[in-house]
Amino acid sequence: MNNNPYQNAIKQLEQVGDHLKLDPNTVEFLKTPDKLIEVNFRVKMDNGEYRIFKGYRSQHKNALGPYKGGIRFSEEVSVDEVKALSMWMSWKCSVADLPLGGGKGGVIVDTKTLSLTELEGVARGFMKAIYKDIGPQVDVPAPDMYTTPQIMGWMLDKYNKLTNTNSKATITGKNIEDGGSEGRTEATGFGGAFILRELAETYNLEPTKTTIAVQGMGNVGYYFTKKAIELGFKVVAISDSKSGIYNKEGIDLEGIVSHKNKNKSLEGILEGQKISNQELLELDVNILVPSAIENVIDQTNASNIKASYIIELANGPTTPDGEKILLDNKKIIVPDILANSGGVTVSYYEWVQNLNNETWGKDQVLEKLDKHISNAFSNVLTLAQNDNISLRLASYAIAVKKIVDKL
Ligand code: NAD
Repeated sequence: MNNNPYQNAIKQLEQVGDHLKLDPNTVEFLKTPDKLIEVNFRVKMDNGEYRIFKGYRSQHKNALGPYKGGIRFSEEVSVDEVKALSMWMSWKCSVADLPLGGGKGGVIVDTKTLSLTELEGVARGFMKAIYKDIGPQVDVPAPDMYTTPQIMGWMLDKYNKLTNTNSKATITGKNIEDGGSEGRTEATGFGGAFILRELAETYNLEPTKTTIAVQGMGNVGYYFTKKAIELGFKVVAISDSKSGIYNKEGIDLEGIVSHKNKNKSLEGILEGQKISNQELLELDVNILVPSAIENVIDQTNASNIKASYIIELANGPTTPDGEKILLDNKKIIVPDILANSGGVTVSYYEWVQNLNNETWGKDQVLEKLDKHISNAFSNVLTLAQNDNISLRLASYAIAVKKIVDKL
């Protein structure tokens, strides 16, 4: 199986290109970022010595608006990774109907080895190295793996000093007091739950009788589960990286979270039955919601998946080989670029609020998000039903076509 993200992104693009009958030249153009920035910068470490760091920013396509996407700090960062992730951001923004393009960046660094001062040095150093290609109407970064609202604050401060400007709209994912948006924390999980509600309505699933298993109880898994329970659905299983809990009567989310916060794991929990992450994925439930990491459904376990519906809240939880088996078994998969687009949608709201010097309340943000993501889901569903194609192909077809029409 090929796990090079860029090769996978290209394969997906070629499939959509065939479906849309795009000319090969256009497909070739879409494969490449408009601009790929590679920088090396120095940071003074606590021992007084300088260390050199390497970072990248890939700006895929900006036909719909400024490039938009996270900056991650990780040892795994590579050219192929940022190229693929920036392409996926183009599709995600497009299918979510946002006037934004696709970008992604990263610095090769293990943040656990840095002091807070050194971390700030890396954040400021990277921004100094790329700032000429960044800006509210050019490219708007955001947090990603191992980057936080505080790191975004340092980058924004550096940008504003270097450019002698004072716009908060240059970076999203900031702390609320630095101009961040209400509702961003809940956005991805709640957005997934709004899609769940639409999916249930479409396929006549009665919420109280609909059982759901959620893999992962981090930011996304927690807020998805919270809203799904509020909407009346029966979440019967949830997990962290080590193990999961299954209770066929429905889990007590807050009880589980408070146990986890106290004990740092689900070990020793009294409610329900302990299950492994693999068992969770293969539970006999109506809906499976992978909300943790990539590649958890592949050719080795796809045929064991019993859920009829899969809502991909994690990025890339299903491998192409796994998906083929799921589709052969008539499973309905809401793809990641659509299902988890709540996060970037509220990042877009943050950008708009910053540009207009406005502050929206949490209810207002979440209500807008609900309408926005439900509408995006409805557009994808209509195309999938009309053309008799999967929701993933329909999402990609809508996303790619919208960009091609503006090239
Ligand atoms: P997080 O770090 O808050 O939570 C991750 C969860 O995954 C934790 O519960 C962790 O215990 C669990 N986990 C880690 N390794 C695991 C393993 N091997 N098996 C099972 N579970 C494991 O992260 P998050 O922000 O909730 O993001 C989760 C996923 O959603 C990621 O794929 C991320 O890229 C994607 N995503 C997040 C956002 C966002 O706004 N946070 C937006 C779009 C996509």
